[in-house]
Amino acid sequence: MNQPKPQRLQIGKGQISGYISIFLSILALVSILCFLFPEKLTTPEFREIYTAQSMTILVKAVIVLCFIFALISFLLSKKIKWALPGAAIAGVAILLGALNVQGTAVQKSDWYFGLDWMLLDLLLMTVIFIPIELFFPKNLNQTKFHEEWRTDLVYFVISHLFIQFFGIITQKPAIVFFGWIGLDKIHIWIQQLPFLMALFIAFFTTDFFQYWAHRIFHNHVYLWRFHSVHHSTQHMDWLAGSRTHFIDIFFTRAMSFIPLYVLGFSPAVFNTYIIVIAVHAVLIHANTRINFGFLKYIITTPQYHHWHHCEDPKYYGKNFAAVFPFIDMMFGTYYLPGKVWPEGTGVHESQYPKGFIKQSIYPFTKSPFDDNLKMEDRSDR
Ligand SMILES: [Zn+2]
Ligand SMILES: [Zn+2]
Repeated sequence: MNQPKPQRLQIGKGQISGYISIFLSILALVSILCFLFPEKLTTPEFREIYTAQSMTILVKAVIVLCFIFALISFLLSKKIKWALPGAAIAGVAILLGALNVQGTAVQKSDWYFGLDWMLLDLLLMTVIFIPIELFFPKNLNQTKFHEEWRTDLVYFVISHLFIQFFGIITQKPAIVFFGWIGLDKIHIWIQQLPFLMALFIAFFTTDFFQYWAHRIFHNHVYLWRFHSVHHSTQHMDWLAGSRTHFIDIFFTRAMSFIPLYVLGFSPAVFNTYIIVIAVHAVLIHANTRINFGFLKYIITTPQYHHWHHCEDPKYYGKNFAAVFPFIDMMFGTYYLPGKVWPEGTGVHESQYPKGFIKQSIYPFTKSPFDDNLKMEDRSDR
């Protein structure tokens, strides 16, 4: 029996504020773990940026917001069913000490999960993208709670929790291949460049490497099976971009890290690059019609990247660049037809595996030498 399709939530009915309240209360509850086990659940690099005090204030603010949204939900809906769960979970978080959490001296640990990174990035992305998708949607019929949102959330959680693992393995190739060359002179030269020029070089060089890594993943049958996971989403939204196979993450990020390592940008340039690229990569997948005006010819937009995800084979092999459309122009893969958007996104396969585990295993289920695939299964895109 077919399940009824989930409907988009309506603004002003109290459901959205109720779900925001539930979401915030879960973040507050889980964040207590970061204060209880900071060695194992927080990231040393981030502990240098934030202070324990600022995080205790943030947890309190999240709890207050949680009650405010629960109240809004109640006032709008005149029902407690969407307001109660968030308020109840926030109550449990308070009972477990969320308002009294304290930062402690943290010992160095050999291994850790990036739970702090996961919670902070999830909070930041929802603050930015929930209003964007609510007030400036592209696809009005699409709901956040489509059939596969949990799958995309699992990808988001895993890729953040394993930050240490992904960090080490994506940096390894650059260090192994280029670490033995004396790079100090290049680093000194790069670091005396004006900030904006250095930032442009960082974006251009990484996007150039990313372009070719991405194109290789499309053009080889075996590699395509890994990258097809990213393309399997039929519901493009801010969370959908997280759906990426770990081999794909490793290879593409390792390639993009090579110019960053070789050129050795200053911490200010490097950190700006990381923040902008993290937000922009999410934005281009978002379900939003925001199109940057004339800037769309300079920077990739949601419309641009949605064409890359188009399910119609006629449009395969377009728009590989993550940031600069002119890189696609240089290599003949640029496609941006005025104000037109693709009809649909996804892979041209009716029985694509669903769920994180099946999709993670899927590329390994066929031999790398088996290239006997029908055209529609291929990416030659
Ligand atoms: Zn692709
Ligand atoms: Zn994408």
